[in-house]
Amino acid sequence: MRESLGMAKKLETDVIVVGAGLTGATLACGLAANGIQTVMVDRTAPEDSISPSFDGRASAIAYSSKVALDGIGLWPLVADKTEAIREIRVSDGPSLLFLHYDHADIGDDPLGYMIENRDMRSGLLALTKQTAGLDIIAPADITAMTRGNEGAEITLSDGRTVTGKLLVAADGRASMTRQAAGIDVTGWTYNQHAIVATIDHTVSHQGIAHERFLPSGPFAILPLKGGHRSSLVWTERKSLVGSFMALDDDAFLAEISERVGGFLGDVSLVGPRFQHPLGLQVAATLHR
Ligand SMILES: Cc1cc2nc3c(=O)[nH]c(=O)nc-3n(C[C@H](O)[C@H](O)[C@H](O)COP(=O)(O)OP(=O)(O)OC[C@H]3O[C@@H](n4cnc5c(N)ncnc54)[C@H](O)[C@@H]3O)c2cc1C
Repeated sequence: MRESLGMAKKLETDVIVVGAGLTGATLACGLAANGIQTVMVDRTAPEDSISPSFDGRASAIAYSSKVALDGIGLWPLVADKTEAIREIRVSDGPSLLFLHYDHADIGDDPLGYMIENRDMRSGLLALTKQTAGLDIIAPADITAMTRGNEGAEITLSDGRTVTGKLLVAADGRASMTRQAAGIDVTGWTYNQHAIVATIDHTVSHQGIAHERFLPSGPFAILPLKGGHRSSLVWTERKSLVGSFMALDDDAFLAEISERVGGFLGDVSLVGPRFQHPLGLQVAATLHR
């Protein structure tokens, strides 16, 4: 990362990436690592995005994605925070029968990896700082955007402008940049939210991811680093989510324990709980 941007009024670059989330930061590092001058802009300060209260999710990274992240130099920075997914078990409610995917059926490599988003964000932050040809402007709000045959220009709230041959809209699902480019989306909401929480447990998860289909939606138990910590994604009807989120820790833990079952031993909550509305959204085109 160049620290020398200072307060230059006009910046020129090859690519402007709007949004420094997991998508934008990964792309920006990959572009710069391949010699493409990149400026990434986000309204959030990078350090804020790695606090435990910012994003309590964990991500499943498919094996092919792991190979790609290795290619841009990210994997070595996060590898010791990942847990290999060796098996996936999918079941219908409390049924003792389950669909079984075992990495050993297809080779030696795991099916994928689990990593907490805050660890991924920390790794990306470290990578952006050591990547030449990548500048980050954050926190910064974009007040105007123009597009032309030669590229795009954004104006920041402090009056600076950034001009690029290509502008990437990585500013999330409510992307202002996409809307400004006139790209429509189609989709719908599922009337369900994902409640996300992290648990510690006394019995090892052994690298097994579980997906249970309960009446209110899928309930996932995802293995995190070390054997005794898991990430939960509890899909629940929107109308009930508020009351579950309002429970005190003991009552919330009781609801979770009932859904997890006893196979992980004693279970305790780690950190805050989060909720995310679920929906499908597909852009009409990926470029304009
Ligand atoms: C419960 C749950 C579980 C999931 N599990 C997985 C998983 O296992 N594996 C997986 O691959 N994916 C998973 N996902 C999906 C994944 O989390 C998202 O696809 C991903 O976080 C999206 O990242 P993003 O960078 O595109 O967007 P965001 O994280 O929304 O980042 C957008 C960035 O743009 C910035 N921004 C927005 N507007 C502006 C603006 N006007 N100006 C400047 N900056 C702006 C924001 O500050 C933010 O930093 C899951 C999602 C949920 C809800």
